[in-house]
Amino acid sequence: MTARRRGQPPQDAPRVIVVGAGFAGLAAVKELHRVGAQVLLIDRNIYSTFQPLLYQVATGGLNPGDVAYPLRTVARRKAARFRMGELAGIDPAARQITLTDGTVLGYDYLVLGTGVSAAYYGVTGAAEHTFGLYTRHDAVALRDHIMARLERLDIEGHGHDVYFTVAGGGATGVELAGALAELRDDADAFPEVDRADVHIRLVEMAPALLAPFHPKLQRYALAELRRRGVDVHLDTRISEITDDRVILANGDKLPSDVTVWAAGVSAPGDVRDWGLPQGHGGRVEVGPDLRVAGQDRIFATGDVALIEGQPLPQLAQPAIQGGRHAAGQIALLMAGRPTKPFRYHDKGIMATIGRRSAVVEFPHGARLRGTLAWLAWLGLHLFYLLGGRNRLSALLNLSYRYLVWGHGGGVIVGDDPPAAIAGGSPRALPGAAGSRQGSP
Ligand SMILES: Cc1cc2nc3c(=O)[nH]c(=O)nc-3n(C[C@H](O)[C@H](O)[C@H](O)COP(=O)(O)OP(=O)(O)OC[C@H]3O[C@@H](n4cnc5c(N)ncnc54)[C@H](O)[C@@H]3O)c2cc1C
Repeated sequence: MTARRRGQPPQDAPRVIVVGAGFAGLAAVKELHRVGAQVLLIDRNIYSTFQPLLYQVATGGLNPGDVAYPLRTVARRKAARFRMGELAGIDPAARQITLTDGTVLGYDYLVLGTGVSAAYYGVTGAAEHTFGLYTRHDAVALRDHIMARLERLDIEGHGHDVYFTVAGGGATGVELAGALAELRDDADAFPEVDRADVHIRLVEMAPALLAPFHPKLQRYALAELRRRGVDVHLDTRISEITDDRVILANGDKLPSDVTVWAAGVSAPGDVRDWGLPQGHGGRVEVGPDLRVAGQDRIFATGDVALIEGQPLPQLAQPAIQGGRHAAGQIALLMAGRPTKPFRYHDKGIMATIGRRSAVVEFPHGARLRGTLAWLAWLGLHLFYLLGGRNRLSALLNLSYRYLVWGHGGGVIVGDDPPAAIAGGSPRALPGAAGSRQGSP
């Protein structure tokens, strides 16, 4: 008989598989640690991505490693095992999952927290000709293309223009457009480039930015973006996107060298293969206790789940609280007790526009904007970023961006995709792949 390591669950403890190591999956793993289950965490990546700061990676303010936390470290600390893999199918009758590499794994309970990806709403060319901002890979690909376009402008000299278009005026779109404006205005990043040649545009279908916020905060965000030189189009529908153009429903054809899609999310197509009931946006339908409709041992939570009668925003807090709740229900089931419904505790929402400019709205109606809101945004994001090392490096890089940049600093550079500098289409380059608000 082998001795059990201290803190390890007994070998006959129920086996729980958690698929997806985002906010929801990691919160579930942490809670399950206390319950004494044997936990196997599975993710297609070996790291967890802190999505709220991806736009900083894409604009050269943070290193890709600052927003990625190694999953084996989390697993070891929580007496869980980690396996890199991608979920391909579920067999609830046999209580087994299959991974894309053919591996079959058995479970007593399964927690799904696999998140979402872009929804293109049938806009022609959007999937092919836009950049997404969901993964670290997306952020690096976008950064390299942004930098390459600016590099090209540096070579071409004054009189040429570059156009960046952000589709979607939610928090992701606003944050990215604001950061692009800061990049353009930083005299040290591309000193030879005339800022008048760099055009940043944000296109939003609704009459206001930041839909969930109070109209006063929406107007503040709009005024701040415009003050920073972002060309904001509200009430504007995109009908088609090509590799160098954004075509509006009114027929206007706007030049666009780099187009970023931040206009909506849905469950990725592979969720269909899991054979689970899906609701609006392809999300997996779950009951009040977060068990998948019709299943007694499968939970879904976070962005991928749609709770019956309680649709929640696709944000970090619902995912964190949902992951904890799913784990708590597994503990109740292990103890032979009935489950409880999930109650979301709203902690408020926030978005930043750029240096010393953000909006915060608390559930009871109190609102903040400007420098105080921005400091709150900064503090909260650093607090929720996983790992001491990541937090320190992010703090250092963000401080550098906001305190030093523009006064002798510089951007974090990647590799310049050579074809973009030579004039090729961004999509012809490797790495391009095909976003969002709230406080984490
Ligand atoms: C650019 C951006 C900025 C955002 N900013 C904010 C913000 O400021 N505040 C806020 O509250 N929210 C923000 N959000 C939303 C927030 O990040 C999400 O709501 C949250 O990440 C959802 O957590 P989750 O655990 O459900 O999914 P995710 O965090 O997306 O994690 C899903 C995990 O599942 C893995 N995975 C997916 N499919 C499979 C599969 N088939 N097999 C194995 N693994 C798989 C992925 O690799 C990933 O690690 C932002 C989102 C984006 C994209």
